[in-house]
Amino acid sequence: MQMQNRVAAVIGSDELNTRLSFLDWSSEDTRRLQTLPESLKEVAGVFVDELYRRLVRYPELAAVLGNQATVQRLKSSQRGYYQRLFAGEIDARYVEERWRIGQVHERVGVDLKWYLGGYRLFLASMLDAFAAKTATGSEADQGLRDTYQSLLKVVFFDIALAAEAYVGAQHAALRASKHRYMHAMRGANDGLWDWDLEQDSLYISERWAAMLGLQLNEVGQRMQDWQARIHPDDLFAFRAALKAHTEGETEFFVHEYRICHRDGRFIWVLTRGVLEVSAAGARRMAGSQTDISNQRHIQAQLEYAAMHDPLTGLINRNQLDNIAGQVSRELARPSSRHAALLFIDLDRFKLINDSLGHAVGDRVLVQIARRLQRCLRSGDALARFGGDEFVMVLRDLADMSDADMVAQRVLMALKEPLCCGEHTLVVNASIGLAPIEPEQSLDEAMRAADIALYEAKANGKGRVQQFSNIMLDQAHERMQMESSVLQALQRNEFEVYYQPIHRLSQDGSQQAVGVEALLRWRQGSRMVSPAAFIPVLEESGEIVAVGYWVLQQACRQLRDWQLAGEDDLTCSVNLSGIQLERQDFAQQVQRILDETGLSPSSLILEITESLLIDQSGSTLANLRELAQLGIRIALDDFGTGYCSLGYLNRFPLHVLKLDRSFLVEADQCNKQRAICQAIIQLAHTLEMDVIAEGIETQEQVDFLHQENCFLGQGFFLGYPMPAIELQQHIDRVAAQV
Ligand code: C2E
Ligand code: MG
Ligand code: MG
Repeated sequence: MQMQNRVAAVIGSDELNTRLSFLDWSSEDTRRLQTLPESLKEVAGVFVDELYRRLVRYPELAAVLGNQATVQRLKSSQRGYYQRLFAGEIDARYVEERWRIGQVHERVGVDLKWYLGGYRLFLASMLDAFAAKTATGSEADQGLRDTYQSLLKVVFFDIALAAEAYVGAQHAALRASKHRYMHAMRGANDGLWDWDLEQDSLYISERWAAMLGLQLNEVGQRMQDWQARIHPDDLFAFRAALKAHTEGETEFFVHEYRICHRDGRFIWVLTRGVLEVSAAGARRMAGSQTDISNQRHIQAQLEYAAMHDPLTGLINRNQLDNIAGQVSRELARPSSRHAALLFIDLDRFKLINDSLGHAVGDRVLVQIARRLQRCLRSGDALARFGGDEFVMVLRDLADMSDADMVAQRVLMALKEPLCCGEHTLVVNASIGLAPIEPEQSLDEAMRAADIALYEAKANGKGRVQQFSNIMLDQAHERMQMESSVLQALQRNEFEVYYQPIHRLSQDGSQQAVGVEALLRWRQGSRMVSPAAFIPVLEESGEIVAVGYWVLQQACRQLRDWQLAGEDDLTCSVNLSGIQLERQDFAQQVQRILDETGLSPSSLILEITESLLIDQSGSTLANLRELAQLGIRIALDDFGTGYCSLGYLNRFPLHVLKLDRSFLVEADQCNKQRAICQAIIQLAHTLEMDVIAEGIETQEQVDFLHQENCFLGQGFFLGYPMPAIELQQHIDRVAAQV
């Protein structure tokens, strides 16, 4: 349909007549061709074979004329063509047919040159044949020459059509490609531009303009109109990049910059382009423009996130690293002053998180961050290092003692009570302070401040500690200790001490009714207290193995004492949280009881409040199973954690151990005394036993007795001691009765 339209458009009847008139075509030509002697017509048939023999010699055509059947088909259609040609009737149908054939040839890749060359060969063959017939010079010869003229007319008519069919097909392809291009351009999100450098004429696409909220005619047609919209801070770089490309320094022009939108804001765009130089040396650049504002925005957010703590908005370790790098370089300059690093760690922050929840913990951290920020001088930096750790970098200090002053100020600022919803909290912090040395890395300065912080915590928290080299040695020792305690079990360096638990009677007489197994580590000649190494064992998970070992020792020892006559003696063994998280913990305890022959009722397992708060995994299931077995569970150090009283009901608990801190001040402080009374009362009400810890004086024994607390342990009654001494202790106490 489309082809017919094309034919009609190219060769309408007027056009056909014009052409035929220019060829001097008349009905006489038709007649002449129709009366062409048969012998001459046959020449055309023979010529077809000749032509194809010739054509297939060219590799380019051999590919198209590869198969015999195709060649036969083509030959027969060509013979048909000559018949029509000799029919001498040039009308619309004839034109249409020729046009179609021309297009087919173009499509299958037969170049126009073969087509036209074929016509030449045909005319040459016919000329020879006509020449042979016109050797006589007769009138008939004149007739034949006229017929040859007619043949020339029709053949040239066809040649014109063939050429037009080829060009027409190519135009159509070009139009299709142009259409596709325009379509793609409309669909693409990118704007396009084209700049003629010689004329300084700029062409931009609608999308290019729309990106800036503009109509096409509002942009201008010169490069300076484009550049007038570029952010002043980005203009220099834009020009430099453009110049670099036009001068051949870069393969492509690729540049990101800000450009002004109609509404006055700047958007980020990426422009790409490439220079083309024509054969005549004319330079032209063309390319695209992409709106990358969103990407830039996301990128800026990511960059911000990479450098900041999301909760407090303070900078994070990465950014502090950059700042510390700057500081240490500054310090390397001759006239530089001092710089220091404060490592700030909140004391007992975990308790706030555990008892009041993480949401409250987060709000506390945000408020703390604000307070710390208020302590900063300009030029100083404050970072959050995750958790409850903050780091402050103080620079340009006249003297290192100034750093101490800032640190004290920080402590004061943090001491102020802090309101968090309905909670009023006091959050203390410990601070390690270390100088930043020239050319020192952040890590090195941090390590020193961390060691000082450790010291500040070890010395009672809520204080500032300056780093000294002695601490470094101590830290090394600590590290050594940490690595050797992990091997202590294999090396048989652990021992179990036993502290007696007494029944306190009114007349001052006492009776040892139980023992608490307390772990000791023999390091050379000294005994190390568990407070120093249990956290290390817990952190590494080694406490699980060590814990089973203590249990085994304690159960076996108690069984020995029972067999030796102390039938009613009980033993308390301390547990760590991770032990109870083990799925098979209760079964393992059962196994130890079976192996040692100890009755479950003789065993008390001590857990702490924090273990209940943090409980996870199999903790609760284990506690229930242990209680089911008849083992009693004691809540150790009761009152020091932030355990809600609801826990006493939720967990199977049989014994409360009154922490020694209450007892210490009970004789001097009425409030402490009241707390002791309340805890003892609470235990009785809940039908739990209560054991007082840390009894150091007779007065405390008397007070406890008066308050109906009849079980206790403490240095006054007996220190933790090796098993062999405990046996003697029991005998001695029994003898006193
Ligand atoms: P705890 O269970 O509260 O043990 C009582 C601690 O108070 C013992 O410290 C004991 O020596 C000390 N003590 C007893 N009477 C007095 C006194 O009159 N005055 C003072 N000032 N202190 C007294 P120790 O043996 O250093 O143990 C510290 C903590 O280590 C224990 O506290 C317990 O929580 C833990 N622990 C001990 N052995 C083990 C164990 O085998 N496994 C686990 N997981 N923890 C253990
Ligand atoms: Mg205990
Ligand atoms: Mg205790």
